[in-house]
Amino acid sequence: MEKKDKIKESSETTELKRRQLATVENYQLWVNCGGICSFEGCDIRLIASEKGNLTNVGIKAHIIGHAKTSPRREYMEEYGYTEESLENLSNLMLMCHYHSKLIDDKHTKDQFPPDLLFKMKKEHEDWVKSWTESKKKKSIALIHKRLGGPITNIDHQGEAPYILLDAIENQDEFINFSKEGWEEGKKINRELYERFKEKIIESEAKVAEVFPLSPIPLLIDMGFLLTDTVPLSVYQFEREEGIWISDHPDRQKEVELSSSADIKEEDKLAILISVSGKVKMKDVQELLGDKFDSVSFEINDPGLKRVLYKQDVSYLQSQIKEEVEKLLQEQDYRKIHLFYAGPAGLAIEIGRGINPNMWVEVCVYQYNIRATPRYQYALSI
Ligand SMILES: [Zn+2]
Repeated sequence: MEKKDKIKESSETTELKRRQLATVENYQLWVNCGGICSFEGCDIRLIASEKGNLTNVGIKAHIIGHAKTSPRREYMEEYGYTEESLENLSNLMLMCHYHSKLIDDKHTKDQFPPDLLFKMKKEHEDWVKSWTESKKKKSIALIHKRLGGPITNIDHQGEAPYILLDAIENQDEFINFSKEGWEEGKKINRELYERFKEKIIESEAKVAEVFPLSPIPLLIDMGFLLTDTVPLSVYQFEREEGIWISDHPDRQKEVELSSSADIKEEDKLAILISVSGKVKMKDVQELLGDKFDSVSFEINDPGLKRVLYKQDVSYLQSQIKEEVEKLLQEQDYRKIHLFYAGPAGLAIEIGRGINPNMWVEVCVYQYNIRATPRYQYALSI
């Protein structure tokens, strides 16, 4: 018994040498750098993880290294630090993975003496402070990425529009396309949304930023949940460059939307939305038979890279919503069947446009080219 205690004690002493940052210090470090890599000229936004999972957080880089052999360690006394105080925020910078490696790499570390890094840190933090003093709003990010692997930072087109305080995420790949799988997905969406709302209130964020890349039915469902929060900024992932895109001040709307309706006064309405690809009527008939009304929306020249910018997304969302609601008022539908081929950000916005006081049950489908029928029922809203 006594022996055990001793072992425990000694391991505690070793840990004490490298002080763990308190939650409030972590938070402060995050706020000070505005959630952006502190390296001069780098715009990469870092993602904080709720679970405290360090692989999903920007790297905490030491200006003066902690271990005896680490970079710039020989400057410790000169800069008035002790082993203990090396963990103070004044000696830490949040960086993206690449830059944290660059300043420590044995081939490049000599280019980054303490003076340069302290200066970089100060200038970055002053820059972030100037946003707060001007008008930049504080935001919370929602990362809904259930396709492909997780992301650990956000490469943003242009300067970040908000101060990112924290992020709520689900980045577990969605693989169970069965009925149970979709039900589980809906449940996770609700939990995620609750945490997101709490975080917004707790941190008094004025805006929320949504980074979606998930199966379409989950995104439409998530959008539906996201109706009563602070204003949202929804991003789209541009795969080729690997960056997230939203607003662009100089950009005009580029797409045109055409629609056609086929009304036979049935009790089902099929909505076909063709943006990144074409939703074929044949595939819809394969599923619903012949007895349904339909309204089809199609942009000029549908394609994968179409409709990334907010200007286009808002235009499409409002046109679709207006037309569908006109039909809902004129006709008497019991069910809506939604077939969607389009980008993730627009899927969120379509979901946000579903007004439960006006829209009847909406069935959402997942497309699978190898399945019969090709559109498989996923979930209802
Ligand atoms: Zn960087």
